[in-house]
Amino acid sequence: MDKETFRKHGYEFIDWVADYLENVGEYRICPDVRPGEIKQKLPKEAPGKGESLDIIFNDFKRKIFPGMTHWQHPSWFAYFPANNSPPSVLAELLTAGMGAQCMIWETSPAAAELEEVVMEWLKSMLALPKGMTGVIQDTASTSSLVALLTAREKATGFESNVKGFKEPLVIYCSEESHSSVEKGAKIAGFGKENIRHIPTDKDYAVLPGELEKSIFEDMNKGLKPCCVVATVGTTSSSAIDPLDKIGEICKRYNIWLHVDAAYAGTASVLPEKRWMFKGIEYADSFVFNPHKWMLTNFDCSAYFVKEPDLLVRTFEIHPEYLKTGVDSQVKNYRDWGIALGRRFRALKLWFVLRYYGIEGIQEMVRKHIELAQSFKDKVEGSPSFELMAPVPLSLVCFRLNDGSSEGELNRMNRRLLEAVNQTGKLHMTHTTLKGKYVIRLCVASRTTEKQDVERAWELIDEKAREILTPSST
Ligand SMILES: *Cc1c(COP(=O)(O)O)cnc(C)c1O
Repeated sequence: MDKETFRKHGYEFIDWVADYLENVGEYRICPDVRPGEIKQKLPKEAPGKGESLDIIFNDFKRKIFPGMTHWQHPSWFAYFPANNSPPSVLAELLTAGMGAQCMIWETSPAAAELEEVVMEWLKSMLALPKGMTGVIQDTASTSSLVALLTAREKATGFESNVKGFKEPLVIYCSEESHSSVEKGAKIAGFGKENIRHIPTDKDYAVLPGELEKSIFEDMNKGLKPCCVVATVGTTSSSAIDPLDKIGEICKRYNIWLHVDAAYAGTASVLPEKRWMFKGIEYADSFVFNPHKWMLTNFDCSAYFVKEPDLLVRTFEIHPEYLKTGVDSQVKNYRDWGIALGRRFRALKLWFVLRYYGIEGIQEMVRKHIELAQSFKDKVEGSPSFELMAPVPLSLVCFRLNDGSSEGELNRMNRRLLEAVNQTGKLHMTHTTLKGKYVIRLCVASRTTEKQDVERAWELIDEKAREILTPSST
């Protein structure tokens, strides 16, 4: 492609993205497509001869874009968000343009050193323990897998890296832990049977007494406890495991403590929310996702460790073709995680942190929390609805409750969620808490404003009324 063609389409694409971000709230939030519908519109083979960007872009607009789900929509209340922001998008363009593969310091010194700098910034912004060191991973799932692998090596004196698994090691997490813990345990060779899902209290936080009991039982059976994964902000209900109590137990039995705060970690920018992280100094590793609630395009997961030496010893490799003269003076991040090749993820994070500043991010997080609290007040003030979990941050778990049986309530709430989502005006998802079907509304999109949350409540209330009022047909 010649430079002028590139430039022309570059401007055109930026115009398209600028308009998209401006108007994203006007689209039907989830596309109305059937499985296989998009595939059907596309040829089975790649073209023999190259095509012009005009034609490709046109097909993008006609065939691909209509099948996209609009995660940046102001009424996106589903899952946890995957926020982007204009500065992050623009930085991604620079990253793609430079096309650097940042596996070691020498393959892009600025990428390695900027990563070090932004991770120090984050550590300080979130008031994480000063002794921790950060590295960017792709996702929280990877970060937690990395933690499990490092815990495994520490527990076996780096033997399992050499000889393979000899004796079963046990992992402890909450019954409310994210599925990535189980996935990581499977991949890392612990085995699903060696995960203990510890019961939770009425607020869905791990019961430390139950944790200790479980550890004790395993030790009596001759099994070796290896790692506890605590969650600050569980995926179902943003429950907060008590890190201080869990940390004391980990310390007493010399067990690795990994803290998964994929969504909630961002809230530590607010001094008034730091109570959630009380006991964080016990953590051997900690992860949160700037790609969830910190305006940085997917993917960008911030992983912090207390002892980077253990991490590097777990992953280091020394093939001749990757040796450089500066290895002893620099961080070669290839040894800080699973993949060898690395994207330059620090750049978009640097753009975001500089553009918004700590105060800009604090303001956004405070706003989301306030909006969620206002929604929670509506739920609590309504005789038809019931709040299903505490709301420490910006996730509200609720359901419609007219006193029917639990089975009927589950069906009714599933119908309500479907009816609301089918309007295409907003999007929420569900979970179950202690067997009860619960609707989740998470306020964390960059563009969500007061009126979006108010409209959400009105729509939910209207659909609830339709369900509660027996129809005349
Ligand atoms: C979202 C989430 C994850 C998974 O995050 P990925 O970056 O998509 O792997 C893990 N843990 C918790 C608590 C989450 O909310």
